Amino acid sequence: MPAFALSLPLHVAAATAVASQSQGRRGRIKTTSACCWRRAAVPVNMAAVTSSTLSKLAPLEAILFDIDGTLCDSDPIHFCAFRELLQKVGFNNGVPITEDFYSANISGGHNDDLARALFPDLDHDKAMKFMDDKEALYRKLAPEQLKAVEGLHDLCRWIEDHKLKRAAVTNAPRSNAELMLSLLGLTEFFPVLVIGSECDRAKPFPDSYLKALELIGASPDHTFIFEDSASGIRAGVAANVPVVGLTTRNPEKVLQDAGASLLIKDFQDPKLLSILEEIEPTVATVEQV
Ligand SMILES: [Mg+2]
Repeated sequence: MPAFALSLPLHVAAATAVASQSQGRRGRIKTTSACCWRRAAVPVNMAAVTSSTLSKLAPLEAILFDIDGTLCDSDPIHFCAFRELLQKVGFNNGVPITEDFYSANISGGHNDDLARALFPDLDHDKAMKFMDDKEALYRKLAPEQLKAVEGLHDLCRWIEDHKLKRAAVTNAPRSNAELMLSLLGLTEFFPVLVIGSECDRAKPFPDSYLKALELIGASPDHTFIFEDSASGIRAGVAANVPVVGLTTRNPEKVLQDAGASLLIKDFQDPKLLSILEEIEPTVATVEQV
C-alpha cells in the first residue's frame, strides 16, 4: 500500500497525543506495543442523570439498538485495525496512534467523514480505499475478539418474552453489521437492520432512527434507544426518542451532554432493570383450551 502524503490537522493532533502521553500527563497506557485495550475506569454518577423521560414511555413498545459499543465492545478491535493500517501508510510519520487520539478523533465516526478528516489532502477515493481496507481487517479480527456487552442475551430474552419490536441501527458498513450480529447470535433477533450510509444522512442526524421506527411500525412515544456514543445519542434525541447511554468506553459527561436520559454500565445495571420493570408492557396470556 502506498504511503500517503500527510501534513494534516489530525496528523499534528496524533503527534501531540503521543507527546503528551509519553509525558504521562494523563496517566494513560502506552499504545505503541502489542495491541491491547484497557477498559476505561469511568464511574457512573447516576444521580446526575434523570430517568423521568423513560418513565413516560409505558407501556413500552420497542427498543432500538446501536451495534458498535452497544451490543458489543468492538472499539478495541477498530482501534487495533486503525493503528496497524495508519502506521503502515505513514500516518503521524509512522508513529502508531494512541488510544487517546483514537477516542478523540476516530471512535464513532462515519467512514466518509473520517476519510476526509484523516486524509484531507488525499484523493477521496484513495482515502475511502484505506477505510475499506481497515474494515476488511476489522472483519478478520472480529471473530476471535468480539464479545457481547454483559447482560445482552438476558435482555434479548426479556424482549422476546415481552414481544417488543426491535431494530439494529448503525453507522457501520452493512458487511460489518451483519458479521457482528451473526457473531453475537442475533441475526434472527433483529427483523430490521438500518445502515446509516443507506439513509440520506448517517448519525448524528436522526434519519436512520426515524427509518427504523417506520420499518417496525413503532411510536417514538413508546420506544427508547440504546447508544454508546455522543453522535448516536444526538441522532436519537433528534428523532425525539429517549436514549439510554452505555458507558462502554465514553465518559459519562460526554453522553450526558449529548442528551442521554439515563446512563448505565451494561445491560445488568440495576438502574436499567428498575426502569424496565416500570415500563414493561403487559404480556397477554392465551388460555389453553
Ligand atoms: Mg456505537
